[in-house]
Amino acid sequence: CGIFGIIGHPEASNLAYLGLHALQHRGQESAGIVSSNGDALRFHREMGLVADIFTAPTLEKLVGSAAIGHVRYSTAGGSQLKNAQPLCVEYADGQMSVAHNGNLVNAQELRQQLVAEGAIFQSDADTEIIIHLIARSRQPTFEKKVTEALSKVKGAFSLLFLTHNQLVAVRDPYGFRPLVLGRLRNSYVLASETTALDLIEAEFIREIEAGEMVVIDEQGLRTSQPFAPTRLGRCIFEQVYFAKPDSVLFGMSVYEARKELGRQLAREQPAAGADLVIAVPDSGVPAAIGFSQVSGIPYDVGLIRSHYVGRTFIEPQQSIRHFGVKLKLSAVRQVLKGKRVVVVDDSIVRGTTSRKIVKMLKAAGALEVHLRISSPPTAWPCYYGIDTPSRQELIASSHTTEEIARYVTADSLGYLSQEGLGAAVGDRERNTFCTACFSGKYLTGDLTAQAASPQH
Ligand code: 5GP
Ligand code: SF4
Ligand code: MG
Repeated sequence: CGIFGIIGHPEASNLAYLGLHALQHRGQESAGIVSSNGDALRFHREMGLVADIFTAPTLEKLVGSAAIGHVRYSTAGGSQLKNAQPLCVEYADGQMSVAHNGNLVNAQELRQQLVAEGAIFQSDADTEIIIHLIARSRQPTFEKKVTEALSKVKGAFSLLFLTHNQLVAVRDPYGFRPLVLGRLRNSYVLASETTALDLIEAEFIREIEAGEMVVIDEQGLRTSQPFAPTRLGRCIFEQVYFAKPDSVLFGMSVYEARKELGRQLAREQPAAGADLVIAVPDSGVPAAIGFSQVSGIPYDVGLIRSHYVGRTFIEPQQSIRHFGVKLKLSAVRQVLKGKRVVVVDDSIVRGTTSRKIVKMLKAAGALEVHLRISSPPTAWPCYYGIDTPSRQELIASSHTTEEIARYVTADSLGYLSQEGLGAAVGDRERNTFCTACFSGKYLTGDLTAQAASPQH
């Protein structure tokens, strides 16, 4: 998911709209904006894309100088309007709204507990638990209620809260999901990625730190570190795939990081004798360029991506996903014919896309197809806000690299090592990133058994 917030600007909801537009790659199922005019909150949420949902008349109704917004792709909870965010509720102290990126790992037990105590839930999203915990808190101020509520939840949360007069931003102590702070004249801006700041011409100030809470209201900006500190667990897959390449994420350019992944991949898994390097667009492009730089094999464009379809993986239905590959990519025969081709992609999840791509390249005349992946085998599901399928569906959980190569019908297959991944993102010691989907090391406690069980 993607989140955006702004306070202190007369056109808050218009800027939230633009910010969400820049974050659209983080979720395409639904979008919403809540605004505050200092008195009351107003909201609009719908299924679909930001540009389709928010018309000028809709935005005009979202009055006020503060707003938060959300773009969603389902990780916890189904793809339905009731799960769209920001959530907006009335409770004892007035109105509050919340936009959440991440997943809680103790949602089930907290929810059962709350339901047993009489709570009524309107969505399946884990975010609603946070709302209930805040509403029940007996602490005197909103920020103390939020702190108390969040001390009970475990997992990944980059959160924005909007009340009638405060914008609160919080990032979990591991820092799984990104969140940055910026400034636009007299207003403060918060966003999942810097690309949203760039679009509205806001100045990047800094990241919200892992475990930090920032409260912005008429008194200005206050910061605190309300949670017990822990090691960092920033999502390495944001650098590999999820974030937009023009963003600066965790202090590093995403584009540069991906290029470096490709360079490292070329060192570890060369493809001597190949004629050209191509990318699976868009996510594989920077890594393919890096691969070409180190290997000396020329880079060319052998696959064209249609701009009229979204990220296939994010479409939740299997039927759409299957059709999606062909809709999305087409091969350039003139480039591929008679060539030994290295094709670089960021990851293999189920293997179905890769298999279709390899077949497509061969059908377009490629003599050999050598598949290179700029991350290690994805063998474990993510419980922290990326929608990987169950362990059973992850091809690398039960197949060797040779078996996967055979399945996708590639002449060779090479993955980046876990060491190489760490080195490429500047984490040689491998202790500031979460790598659980590659390593099975879940930082919030051992979810390995849960991941291996058939229900997950
Ligand atoms: P597969 O070959 O496993 O069917 O698909 C791999 C492709 O899915 C890659 O091109 C990768 O960029 C894309 N992809 C899209 N969304 C995701 C996601 O959320 N997680 C992962 N691991 N890959 C994704
Ligand atoms: Fe990111 Fe993978 Fe960790 Fe999930 S498990 S937070 S995708 S690195
Ligand atoms: Mg891709």
